[in-house]
Amino acid sequence: MDPKEIDFYSLGFNFIETKTMYIADHKDGEWSDGQLVPFSNFEISPAACVLNYGQGIFEGMKALRTKDGDITLFRPEENARRLNKSASRMLMPNYDIELFIKALKQVVKANEDFIPPYDSGGALYIRPLMIGNGPILGVKPALEYKLIIYTVPVGPYFPEGFRGIDLEMSTIYTRAAPGGTGSAKTCSNYAGSMLPVKETKSRGFSQIIFLDAVNREYIEEVGTANFFAVIDGVLITPKTSGTILPGITRKSILELGNKKLGMVTEERDISYKEIFEGSCTETFCAGTAAVITPIKSVVLEDKKRIFSDGEPGEMTRKLYELLTGIQRMDIEDEFGWIVKV
Ligand SMILES: *Cc1c(COP(=O)(O)O)cnc(C)c1O
Repeated sequence: MDPKEIDFYSLGFNFIETKTMYIADHKDGEWSDGQLVPFSNFEISPAACVLNYGQGIFEGMKALRTKDGDITLFRPEENARRLNKSASRMLMPNYDIELFIKALKQVVKANEDFIPPYDSGGALYIRPLMIGNGPILGVKPALEYKLIIYTVPVGPYFPEGFRGIDLEMSTIYTRAAPGGTGSAKTCSNYAGSMLPVKETKSRGFSQIIFLDAVNREYIEEVGTANFFAVIDGVLITPKTSGTILPGITRKSILELGNKKLGMVTEERDISYKEIFEGSCTETFCAGTAAVITPIKSVVLEDKKRIFSDGEPGEMTRKLYELLTGIQRMDIEDEFGWIVKV
């Protein structure tokens, strides 16, 4: 698409084709030199491992335009590390961290015209994707892999913007079980969440809250974002014990809460029951796409907890202002999180 035809001020979270993507191929135990190529379809064997058995992993990041016109990435090394962790879990090859960051910079630069302006609040979403590309018949890892990095200009993930969303806890569906792949960003975790999310949305909710698969009691995640609660003034998020995706936004929020807002932070199991008690004063979800999105109400069967009429809680707002301020370089980055393109 011609970037001149894009209204950067009314973007949602939908696919828009940009100019250039990055590709590297892994054969005989080695990665080819990565290169920038025009965004386009490519050939794939019908027997490719990713198509038949879901051997694929991905990442999600954002490039932002600052007030001064710079382009920034947020903690890209963390994404590189997590990509390699996901790869190892799925018996896929690792990719050099320095090369990955260089590739990100190249592909963002090549698609610079698609980066939404500072005042639009939008971002250039970056999607690194690694797939088992080689043909296979029995269930075993592919012999060839492809790394692709493409970009899409995006606006807010939830059309509500920085306003509260209504969520429903599921007693029927779970996302990940102990011993499974919940902590890897693998494609195969997401197909199974589409039906639960569709049913929840058909009842008027924005997203689903998954509870743990063993007890159906402890909160795991909000669709594709991590969950946070303020309980008795303590900032709490579910601990990452294998079924939760270790979000980079999650990790950053814990640090900001602790070091910048003087909050006590905890990573522990959160029973759904705690959300329906008065000591829980705020909840929100967090991720690259969702940034920090306040939760306005939570429903579990006939129980309902209303937090506000849409206004974010005080801590939610402070964390949002800090995080987005650092990401857009409006606030000094004393953590060394920002990488300029
Ligand atoms: C990507 C993702 C997150 C958020 O991770 P960030 O690194 O903060 O973007 C949370 N939960 C799931 C299931 C995810 O896939």
